[in-house]
Amino acid sequence: MSIENYVKFLDVVDDDLKKIFDYQSEYLCCKQGCAHCCKRGNFPLSKLEFEYLMLGFEKLNETTKNIIKNNINELKKLEDTENYICPFLINDVCSVYKNRPIVCRAFGVLTEDSKGNPSFPFCTTLGLNFAKIYDKEKQHLSSELVKKNNYKIFPKIFRLSNNIFMNLPLAKELNLEFGEGKKMIEYLKTKF
Ligand code: SF4
Ligand code: SF4
Repeated sequence: MSIENYVKFLDVVDDDLKKIFDYQSEYLCCKQGCAHCCKRGNFPLSKLEFEYLMLGFEKLNETTKNIIKNNINELKKLEDTENYICPFLINDVCSVYKNRPIVCRAFGVLTEDSKGNPSFPFCTTLGLNFAKIYDKEKQHLSSELVKKNNYKIFPKIFRLSNNIFMNLPLAKELNLEFGEGKKMIEYLKTKF
């Protein structure tokens, strides 16, 4: 039941995220095949998200599953568990896209750091999302660059942490129990 309700929850979250991404589309470069964000991170997720991710994995064919299992075995040898390539990424495409965690759905827009300042996705420094309005010297959003580039809207900062999603009223309405949040590698180590 929890998974069924989680799918309902994701339908609503995806709709809301689509509005957020559409709203700022002029600043975004996200497209299929751009996978920098799947190659650097620790991909935190809850137990419920991991269970849903595994359902996506189970539906894959044996060849794809074996590629992922090999990726996971390589991952387990790494000492740095803060930044790694997601083992579900194959040829720069997510093999479990429908079942991907919330952090993967929400990544790419401006979020808020602990002091309430805009926090850019790391791909800004690769010349991708929001790169044209990023003042590299001050490491900050530049209003001058927003004007200079004739953008129609001023970029908005969104609060899209996993905690925010897990504490949405909808999550309570649907009785979702997310369970403990961990880095993806930690959940994978218990499973494989
Ligand atoms: S968030 Fe950045 S790295 Fe990820 S798909 Fe979008 S542009 Fe590419
Ligand atoms: S689960 Fe998919 S979208 Fe998320 S990091 Fe891995 S490959 Fe990328």
